Amino acid sequence: MKAWIELQRNNALVKEWCVMWGEQFRSGDILPLLCDQDGGEGYLCDDCAYDPQNYASRLRKRAEVLESEAAKLRHLADIGVQPPDMTPRLMLEAELLLENPEGELP
Ligand SMILES: [Zn+2]
Repeated sequence: MKAWIELQRNNALVKEWCVMWGEQFRSGDILPLLCDQDGGEGYLCDDCAYDPQNYASRLRKRAEVLESEAAKLRHLADIGVQPPDMTPRLMLEAELLLENPEGELP
């Protein structure tokens, strides 16, 4: 079964992430949603949604980027991540407190 693009009425008009490019875009009144038999896979910007000849190449390029990102995350998990030294945090909090004595710390 093929995947398809379903056009939905967009009531939120917020920024979305394009599932093909991985870039954020400002959605319009009509929001394209890439679907397959498992459900909605993600929203598409208009450039991707209405350019059928490039669907496959864009999806393959996006998959390469995600695979590369996944490899980096696996590498970090394999080598281990050390927790931050808390001294710089305390110094930064002290600086923030001096700059804004009335304010709340983030
Ligand atoms: Zn796009």
